Order: sequence, then C-alpha cells, then structure tokens
Amino acid sequence: MPTGLSGSPDSALLAPKPARILAAVSRQPRNPTREVRIGDVTIGGDHPVAVQSMAATRTQDIEATTRQIRLLQNAKADIIRIAVDSRRDTEALTQITEVAERPLSVDLQEHYRLAEVIAPHVQKIRYNPGHLYHHEPERSIRDKVRYLAEIAGSNDCAMRVGVNAGSVDPDKVAQFPAGDSIGPMLASAFEHCEMLDEIGFTRYCVSLKDSDPNKVIDANRRFADQRPEVPLHLGVTEAGMPPEGIVKTRIAFEQLLSAGIGDTIRVSLTLPFDDKGEEIIAGRQILHDIEAGRYLSVPEYRPEGLNIISCPSCSRVENEAFIDLAHRVREVTEYARMHCLTIAVMGCRVNGPGETDDADLGMWCAPTFVNLKRGGELIGKFGYDEVLDVLKLEIDRLITTTP
Ligand code: SF4
Repeated sequence: MPTGLSGSPDSALLAPKPARILAAVSRQPRNPTREVRIGDVTIGGDHPVAVQSMAATRTQDIEATTRQIRLLQNAKADIIRIAVDSRRDTEALTQITEVAERPLSVDLQEHYRLAEVIAPHVQKIRYNPGHLYHHEPERSIRDKVRYLAEIAGSNDCAMRVGVNAGSVDPDKVAQFPAGDSIGPMLASAFEHCEMLDEIGFTRYCVSLKDSDPNKVIDANRRFADQRPEVPLHLGVTEAGMPPEGIVKTRIAFEQLLSAGIGDTIRVSLTLPFDDKGEEIIAGRQILHDIEAGRYLSVPEYRPEGLNIISCPSCSRVENEAFIDLAHRVREVTEYARMHCLTIAVMGCRVNGPGETDDADLGMWCAPTFVNLKRGGELIGKFGYDEVLDVLKLEIDRLITTTP
C-alpha cells in the first residue's frame, strides 16, 4: 500500500540501519492535509514527505552558500532553506538562486519587510510569529500577516508559519501558566492559521518545534487534532550532534509519521558545514525505516543522564567556532554523562538567549565571546578558549548541590 512517506531512497545515501529494530508497527493513514505547492515540490495530500535542510553559511558569503546549496542538492534535498536578515543578504540571494536547482525557502527574522525584496526569487517564505513583534510595533500583527500573505500570493510563494519554543509570541506566553510551553505555541499557531484563512491565503504549512522530542510529539498531535487539513513541517530544533541528535529526531518522527502526521521534515544537526548533507541522509533513512515498519521508539522516550542540545547553525551563526565549541562541550562533559543535566549550546543572539533559558547551563555565542547562563541568569561572558573551564566548574557545582 503506498504510504506517501518517501520515494525509493538512494541506497548510496543511506546511513547505517538502526542498530535495534524493536517492533514492526502498522501506520495510520496520512492526515488529509491540503496540498501546498513549493516550486516543483508539493507537500500535503498523498504526496511523499519532502526532506529539507538549511544552509548554515552566512548568506552574504556567496561562495560558501552556493557551495552548501550544491552539497545539499547532491544529497538530494527536496527543498533548501536559507536565512535572510539584511539588505546585503537579499543582494546575495539573487546570485545564490542561480545555482539553486531545488525550491528555495527563505527564513525571515525580524526584518519581515525584506519579504517584498526576496519573494520574486524564492518559492517559499517562512516567518516566525514570535518575531513579528520586533519591528514597527505600531503596526498590528494582523496587518503584518496580511502584508506577508499578499507578497507571497503575488509572487507564487508558499508560506510556513514557523513556531519555535524559544521565541513564542510574548502575548501568548502571558496567557498560560508558567511551565506550560506547548499551550502558547499552539495558541500562536492557531491564531496565525485563522488570520491567514480569513485573509484567504491557504497555501501555507505550520511547524511547532522544540528541542524536546516529547514536546514536539505532543504539540504536533494536538495541532493535527484540531487542524488536520493544515500540512505540518516536522522538526526537533537544536537536536544536537549525531548520533544523539538523530535519535531524538527519529523518536519524534516515528511517533508522528506513524500516526499520519507530517508532510515535510527537517533533521537539525550540529555538523561541520561540509557535512550538512547528513541531515538529508538521516531524514531519508528515517522515512525509509518507517516505510518498512522498522521503529526504534516503541518505549516512551525518557531522557536519562546528560542531555546536550545544540542548534544546527545557520547563516546567523556569529562565529563559526561555535560548531567546534559544541563538539568540545560533548568531549569535556563526558565525565558528567550520568547526571541529569541539560546543557544548551546556541550559535547566535537571535534564538540563543531564549532557547537557553530552560537549560541548566546554556551558552550562546557572540562574535568574540560566549555568554554562559545558569537557567535564565547570565553567569558571564567568556572567550571561546576559556568558557569550557568555567562550564566545568558550573557543572561540578550543580552536581554537588543537586540532590
Ligand atoms: Fe541559526 Fe542562531 Fe538558531 Fe543557531 S540559534 S540555528 S545560529 S538562528
């Protein structure tokens, strides 16, 4: 029976099979999502689940970004995303699109008005409802959404409403009790779907991302329950490095895709730039295994011991030393692997401050220093070559003071 999960994967691109196959589980039919066309790819309906990734280079570094786009194309990405934060990025975009053989999705951050400059060159625009507050606060959110929908509509672009746990609309956060992170995310997603529906723009999908796979599962199940016709882009954000990052992502995808939820996926991994194609390979492998009824995650996912979350990096990364730092964090914290602590390592100031708030210890990287936090409190700013020593002291302190 065709499931629409994926076409035949290229065997040369498949990562090794899962070490443990725990069960053959039957899948539920795909949710009856509406079709959304993104260039020559259509998601939703019975279309195969599209696999996408994101360029981690600075967009205005045209040579590096075009190299990365070619690398993702060689890995058989269905859709490629790049971030645009400035006029210089938009100028670079016109040259970058010349090498793009796959549909391009552009990530808007605070500068939502860049949409009108970039939309003629791309096939999809992603906006984060939590970022629409920063510029032109006097303009209503509804008006900004209408503007984005009109730009997308007149330029043959699809849209994604991309809700992230670390940057949720502050009004929605205030409406829910402390500790409920999923309620505000869902409320924000539902509100933006309703706004787009009222405007008459239905060529959109939604994502609800968190670094905790259990929250990703919960949020997407609850969303699909209420809006089964809206295509979903699945992802565990800041999943970290392989293999742990792939395992976390696989757990979420197995639970959701087997329940018929999910129309496009991204595996977010912290990888050296030249290895970014591994995100596509891992995504296709997961789809291939689910298609074949091979699952790893029948037991409930209960994280034990040290949990390192780290962002996959993107064009906003402030110092490429971040990737090496994330890998070094894993090495130097090996001695604490049995302790139930969460350490977050983020690449920039856009999402770093918010995404590190819930971690026991968080680091977000600036161009020449690293901000080290204990929960929401800043411990200090340290050089890239000194922060790991301070991190270890903080870990030791937490280990000795936590019952
Ligand atoms: Fe990109 Fe910053 Fe998010 Fe890392 S934390 S993926 S650098 S936006």
